[in-house]
Formats: sequence, C-alpha cells, structure tokens
Amino acid sequence: MRYVRIDTEADPNSTSFPSSEKQKDLARMLSQELKDMGADDVVMDEWGYVFATIPSNSPKQHIPTICFCSHMDTAPDCSGKDVKPILHRSWDGSPLILPDDPSQVITVENHPYLKGKVGQDLITASGLTLLGADDKAGVTIIMELAKHLLEHPEIPHGRIRILFTPDEEVGRGVEHLDMKKLDADYGYTLDGGPLGEVEDETFSADAMTFNFTGVSAHPGYAKGKMQHAIKIASDFVSSLPKDRWSPETTSNREGFVHPTAISGGLEAASVSFILRDHDTSKLNDYAQELQNLAADVLRNYPGASVTTQRVEQYRNMKEILVSCPFVTDYAVEAMQKAGITPKRSIIRGGTDGSRLSFMGLPCPNIFTGEMAIHSRQEYVVVQDMQAAVNTLIELVQRWEKHI
Ligand SMILES: [Zn+2]
Repeated sequence: MRYVRIDTEADPNSTSFPSSEKQKDLARMLSQELKDMGADDVVMDEWGYVFATIPSNSPKQHIPTICFCSHMDTAPDCSGKDVKPILHRSWDGSPLILPDDPSQVITVENHPYLKGKVGQDLITASGLTLLGADDKAGVTIIMELAKHLLEHPEIPHGRIRILFTPDEEVGRGVEHLDMKKLDADYGYTLDGGPLGEVEDETFSADAMTFNFTGVSAHPGYAKGKMQHAIKIASDFVSSLPKDRWSPETTSNREGFVHPTAISGGLEAASVSFILRDHDTSKLNDYAQELQNLAADVLRNYPGASVTTQRVEQYRNMKEILVSCPFVTDYAVEAMQKAGITPKRSIIRGGTDGSRLSFMGLPCPNIFTGEMAIHSRQEYVVVQDMQAAVNTLIELVQRWEKHI
C-alpha cells in the first residue's frame, strides 16, 4: 500500500529513459529498503534499474543464480497520480463501491474471479485511479521474499538476484538493461494474474506499415487521373476479414493482425499494423496475406503503389524455454509444495520475460493476484500475494537441489 501511493506512471510519448523521472522515486525507496533489510550489492543505476543480491547460503557450488523481476511503472491507460489504496479486510462478498467515484463498483458479476474470494482481504483504489497492483504486487512479493530469506538463514538457497525495471508498460522495460551486471542464469517475472498461474508462452510479435502512394491532381480537373491515397488506405482496411483474424474475433491460440494507426492525404497514406501469433512462422503468412489484400485493392487504382516495412518486436519465450523445461517445472513443483494448484497458461501478449528470455535469461511469468489491471477497478487479493511469496520460498529451495 506504500508502493502504490508513489506515482510511477510511464509516459508513452517520452523518448527519455526512464520515460518519466518519477519512476526513480520508487526505485530509490526500494533500494533503501533492500539495504535496510541487509541485501548485498544494492544498486540503483542511472536508468532507474534496481539490482540486489541475496547471497547463497548453501555449501554447494555451482547452483544457478536465479533472478526475480518485477516492473515498477504503471500503465498510462489510466491515471496513477494520487492513488489512495483501500484495504477491505475479510471481504463479505457485497459490491465494493469505490468512494471517490461511486459509479465504480466492483462486483462478483463484473469480476467472476472474486467468486472464490469471500472472507479474504482485498486491496482496491478509491475510484479515480488505477491501483498499480500491476506490478507493485510483484514488487511487494519479491520484497517479502527477500525479507523472509534474510530473516531465515535456515532456508537453503543459491545466489538470488533481484531486479526491478522501469517502463515495462510502454514496451521499453529492458532497453538499457545490462545483462552482465544482472549476472543471473534463469529468471522469473512476477507479473501474472490469477492464483496458481504460470505462463511460459507469449505471442511472437511484429509491426508492419503499408505506405500507399496515390496519384494527385487538381480536384477540378482530376477526372480520369486522380487516385486518392486516403480511399486506397480505406479500401485496404475495409478488405480485412470481419469474422476472423482480429483481436475482437480471436482467443486462446488464434493469432491476429490489428491496425493501430492510419494517417494520410491525397498523395500518400499509411496504415500501421501489429501482427501477433504464438507460432512465429505464421507471422510470415500474415504479412503475405496483408500484402495480397493490398495488391487486390491496388488493382482498382491504376498508377498507385505501395511499399511496406516490417519490424520484429518480440518473440515467444517458449522458443527458449523448450531447451530448459525445468525452469517452468520447478515453479509448478514449488506451487504444489506450497499447497497451490498450478495452472500452466499462455499469454496473449508479451512480457519483459519475452525479451529477457532471448537476452539469455529464460524467464517464465508467475502469478501475483493482480486483477482488472490498467483500470479503475483494479484489485489484488492479499492472500494471493502471500501464496506467491510461499511459492518463491519453495522455488529457491528447489533450485538449491538442482545439482
Ligand atoms: Zn505488468
């Protein structure tokens, strides 16, 4: 509840790093608390990354170093200024009316996950802001783990690295991360939702832009000459299938293409897309299918043309994690030992872990209890956070038995 009071909203329009300087306020606070609890090598670097070490207390050599990672920033989709967290102790199941905007009501109907949570403790915001449980629930879980391990030296574990990142929500979380400085072998992000979930698959993602060039002419004398780029781009977007291949018509393992921006005038117009699928090879098919649609449209506009650019964004972490399945398996085992029913699931998006996995740190994602994220009805169940801490305590002991 202290961490969410600190405004760490990321700024998607900024080119600096971190995108908003205020993210360092939380970074400084976390660094100080890690120092106070006796963690080693506590550093906040110039970019705002926070690193710390909990040294091995095992007599064994060569236990892999495990990193636990969460992001400190909050999503710009919803205000993160002046967050006033409210703790609802042993919730009785009745609708939670958020006091600063009574139109914001959290009910079991709107949030079916809450069905099994009557009698537990919930934290919500007050109605005007998001809560920031995404990902300060993850931050809190890692801080609790550190505190617990440092207070209980009898729990055997190898070397543990802690990493807090800025700017995950604007897709730049690992932009300036120094992997040598991080110096870890395997990792876990704490940034998942429902109790028991562990995710080791993300989308693979590309961005693609279509730039149409029309044929311009004076509108008074354009008959038979003008080919209008706005109309070409509009036809192209209209030619996308309505019943498939879009975010609003797909779920689970189905991929999609999604126009994110359109701009232009008479002479030139462009349409930007994101391409998403769990199967990376399908992104080529998607790019080709879009090219075919564009070519079909251009047949009706003689003299007009199109160029495209395609940029890789991130790749499915599974491509890395298949070569070290024990990383996810240990998380599953740890949950079972902690009395939690594990549920393997896939992410229809990316995480910092997608990039970290390809930067040399295989990195699945573990639940935190954060729910209804990026909204004013965001909440977290305290007992879910405790269950995540218990999972990590089991997990570090499982890694100690790795060799
Ligand atoms: Zn998050």
